[in-house]
Amino acid sequence: MRTHDFWTEKATNLSIRNQAFINGKFVNSLSGKTFDSINPATAQIFADVAECDAADVDVAVKAARDAFEDGRWSNMHPAQRGKRLMRLANLITSHREELALLESLDMGKPISDAMNIDIPGCARAIHWYGEAADKLMDEIAPTDPGALALVTREALGVIGIVVPWNFPLLMACWKIGPALAAGNSIVLKPAEQSPLSVLRLAELASEAGIPDGVFNVLPGFGETAGQALGLHMDVDMIAFTGSTQVGKFFMQYSGQSNLKRVSLECGGKSPHIITKNCLDLDQAANAAASAIFFNQGEVCTAGSRLLVDREIKQEFMEKLALASASHKVGDPLHPETSMGALVEEQHMDRVLSYIDKANEEGATLTLGGCRSKDRAGYFIDPTIFDDVTSDMTIAREEIFGPVLSVLTFKDEADAIKIANDTIYGLAAAVWSQDISQAHRMSRALRAGTVWVNCWDPTGDMTIPFGGFKQSGFGRDKSMHALEKYTDLKTTWIKI
Ligand code: NAD
Repeated sequence: MRTHDFWTEKATNLSIRNQAFINGKFVNSLSGKTFDSINPATAQIFADVAECDAADVDVAVKAARDAFEDGRWSNMHPAQRGKRLMRLANLITSHREELALLESLDMGKPISDAMNIDIPGCARAIHWYGEAADKLMDEIAPTDPGALALVTREALGVIGIVVPWNFPLLMACWKIGPALAAGNSIVLKPAEQSPLSVLRLAELASEAGIPDGVFNVLPGFGETAGQALGLHMDVDMIAFTGSTQVGKFFMQYSGQSNLKRVSLECGGKSPHIITKNCLDLDQAANAAASAIFFNQGEVCTAGSRLLVDREIKQEFMEKLALASASHKVGDPLHPETSMGALVEEQHMDRVLSYIDKANEEGATLTLGGCRSKDRAGYFIDPTIFDDVTSDMTIAREEIFGPVLSVLTFKDEADAIKIANDTIYGLAAAVWSQDISQAHRMSRALRAGTVWVNCWDPTGDMTIPFGGFKQSGFGRDKSMHALEKYTDLKTTWIKI
């Protein structure tokens, strides 16, 4: 395992790509403007980055369109596209330390998580879609013998990809992989808090043989670059991951412009249900703590509402306290650290304001509840509130920080009612050894993913990922993700 000294020294000597990547080249924004990238663990500026706006979006979309139309990627043999994507996956793996460090410095996550979860997950996603690129078969419809009807899937064209800062590279790769495998060109806008790893990825994509103009990256703000991409008349689709509020903007942008397709991976308030039929309460308590404290709670599927059967509540809370004690904030560059800094000061203040609200509304604080002392950066200690009820703000709104709400239920029907009492529907989990109960409850839960006797166990690419209700629609991962980056065409041939 690399040491803290190793990472600190590597951070000092890191070379940073801070310009936009358009048509195969790093360029300044047309306005010449830049914005600061702040390391949230130190609150220090460590890079200044090109600030793109509508004018840069026009240039990047044109480059992507030209590349799509002349077929340099869209008409390449699918096996050749796949080969280049797999080459990119291998380059991600061989640059794992550099990419992990960029992630950690840019948004505060522990270097060990970036090394062991984020970057391997990115390589896996790109490789998986590289392998899939030449395995997509089309259909012949069972028509009258006097005709041959071909039903083919065709790439859409130019895809705008807009992603958040919590898994900057991974959320991007879940979209880049299928969008490129299907033959599209992309214009990617990373979150303003975390543009650096994706900029380096663009350069690696070029090295892997992805032609100029196919893979463009525009760092910039949501209200300018993001909106311009959403409203652009020559963008065929927006693949978005981020908050529900901004997801709704993208639906509006589509309606106000060219009816571009929109896929939305938005927020969550996921219920984590511990029934009295749970066989191993220690294991469930460990999972409950990880489900909220992993990645500082900045996870769309965070198990932020813990629902515990009142008959086992006291015993479970003792186990939860023990399990939570192993989650401590620390320097993200220390290899032992499991919780890093929150992404920025404004976000930390937002999370703290939810803690104040919970205290005001009468929830009982049993752990944490404050900014971590003796640290310059934006750290919040793991926080647990007991005696939370469904009407409290912390049970209803997505906090996106290390704050767990514990609610109690009396029976299975009560648990389902509380669990589904939310505008979100991203994920849920049930712990029960009773197989009928586990099936009944997972069927009744309104969520895109339900875990039984575990919480988010793997980065398996074979399963679709996405939400019900206001958690969005469209799916990342699996072969289903390819569907949204293509349209069906019917060719009817009289014979
Ligand atoms: P956000 O919605 O504020 O920003 C996401 C992206 O949208 C950023 O690139 C941002 O610059 C851009 N954006 C912001 N305002 C915009 C506007 N007016 N017009 C166009 N673009 C705009 O989200 P965030 O704070 O970066 O990330 C946290 C959110 O992401 C949480 O709600 C979380 O649940 C969600 N998320 C969802 C998933 C999922 O797969 N469902 C995964 C990760 C994160």
